[in-house]
Amino acid sequence: MPDYGAALSLPIPTGERLLADLEQLATFVEPDTPGWTRRFPSPAYLAGRVWLQAAMQHAGLTPRIDAAGNLLGTRRGTADLPPILIGSHTDTVLGGGRYDGTLGVLAALEVVRCFNDAGITLRHPLIVADFLAEEANAYGISCVGSRGLAGTFQSAWLARTLDGVTLERAIQAAGGDPAGLIGPLYAPGALAACLELHIEQGPVLAQAGRSLAAVSGIVGIQRGTLRLRGQPDHAGTTPMAMRHDALAAAAVLITTLEQLCHAGPQTVGTIGRLEVQPNQSNVVPGEVLLTAEIRSLNPAVLAQVWQQFWARATAATAQRGVTLELVALTSSPPVTSPAWLVELVHRVCCSLDEGALVLPSGAGHDSSQLAQIAPTAMIFVPSAGGRSHCPDEDTAPHHLRLGGAALARAVLALDEALA
Ligand SMILES: [Zn+2]
Repeated sequence: MPDYGAALSLPIPTGERLLADLEQLATFVEPDTPGWTRRFPSPAYLAGRVWLQAAMQHAGLTPRIDAAGNLLGTRRGTADLPPILIGSHTDTVLGGGRYDGTLGVLAALEVVRCFNDAGITLRHPLIVADFLAEEANAYGISCVGSRGLAGTFQSAWLARTLDGVTLERAIQAAGGDPAGLIGPLYAPGALAACLELHIEQGPVLAQAGRSLAAVSGIVGIQRGTLRLRGQPDHAGTTPMAMRHDALAAAAVLITTLEQLCHAGPQTVGTIGRLEVQPNQSNVVPGEVLLTAEIRSLNPAVLAQVWQQFWARATAATAQRGVTLELVALTSSPPVTSPAWLVELVHRVCCSLDEGALVLPSGAGHDSSQLAQIAPTAMIFVPSAGGRSHCPDEDTAPHHLRLGGAALARAVLALDEALA
């Protein structure tokens, strides 16, 4: 096993340039929106990317925009090897914060500047990536750019229209060429590895008082829409024993899923959406449409918890004379990072924070897509209070700085480890 001596002793950058860049990018916001809103395909988002492209050039990178609209800045390597790719996204949700995505892009840029300053050359080419439109947008698609890069983008989506503008036109306006989105832009093996630094967007690191985590994988999601049909009756005249209350049955389902996921290993489950009919205070609820989801890194656990939930839901509804129907069921499989890469990233993280954690990601990321074509791993830094996708999203400056240092050390270690 390589000892990564040079990588693990790389000096920790001061972080001044990274903090200044984060502040600069945060000035590109959509007018009359809360927080730091910079959504695809708004002019603010595109202007931010023009700024970023210039910053890439300034750092000595050669920028280009690929067919999927990803902004990619390349630094040459000394050997004829597939590139190492590092990056994230610069779009936000409505009312988003300053660090989700932007940290991973701007820290990648800072890695390049640190290597330049230290006169470090890599054997592999290094690509800094700003993936187009990661957040779910008004076209109803997330990870537009990374899906395009990984070949998981469906061309039927190009016809989707927002305010008279098709997704195809919007990708073109961002510099992409959707006609070229047939198959992956990098074939499997054409990228040596991908790394994404990201804020955790959850409370685990902050609660544990740790600064860094190597991400073991991205959870899979099993999501079902269920219709419960009872009988809407007069809330005053219908005796309790004669009711078929669909909402009371739904309440049992909610607590049942909660109990199952409490008991299960590393599983979370949520019923976060209900539509109640007729939704009147004086009528026994006749019908409920609800969405239940379960997330886990383990596909067997996902399937098992769903089966248990369905069995208990069937019994609980039958007992009340309420019918249960599965309206829709979708599942996205978990993405697991290769063990060797998680171990490398964890070792790097431990060189900066001796108690660095290994955590799964409960949220989706561009890395979920990249993992389809290349060994991919992520690094997490804490989110204050676990808050994200809101203006209060915050990460302490020294955590931002350590995240950048971990990314730089991981790139160096990868350059040494990979043939
Ligand atoms: Zn993100």
